[in-house]
Amino acid sequence: MDCIFCAIAAREAPAHVVAEDERTIAFMDIDPLVRGHVLVVPRSHARDLWEMAIEDGDALMRTTRRVAGAVHRAFRPDGMNLFHATGEAAGQTVFHVHLHVVPRWFGDAFRPPVVPERGLDGDLATPAAEIRAALETGDLA
Ligand code: 5GP
Ligand code: ZN
Repeated sequence: MDCIFCAIAAREAPAHVVAEDERTIAFMDIDPLVRGHVLVVPRSHARDLWEMAIEDGDALMRTTRRVAGAVHRAFRPDGMNLFHATGEAAGQTVFHVHLHVVPRWFGDAFRPPVVPERGLDGDLATPAAEIRAALETGDLA
């Protein structure tokens, strides 16, 4: 399989690695949105959230929390975004699951989409019930 993040995790492709452990590796995004933009990935290939094992998700968040703290200490940003995209509709471009750690500064150039979708009816109870019912099945995707 031809996967750039698998190649980076195997140290077969170059990257500026900042942290690694048994299950995860973190490295600088090659095309940073801001200075200090890091990607955190599980070593085990999973295309997206739907393929990722729960244990890899736990490890991913653990490493992400450590790296985010280090980015915070290193750069003292005003804030921080964690981003993830599953699927082209969400903006995914590399199909090995990853989390973006993006330090933020007042006045920086990065503008995440923040406009709420128009035409939603304001009903929160129905989608909440649908999600609770889906959770009860125990399925992960
Ligand atoms: P996505 O759009 O899938 O959420 O994010 C993919 C990210 O991977 C992008 O921010 C892109 O700059 C980064 N990226 C793509 N190819 C490489 C690469 O070969 N090395 C590194 N370090 N980052 C990459
Ligand atoms: Zn991969």
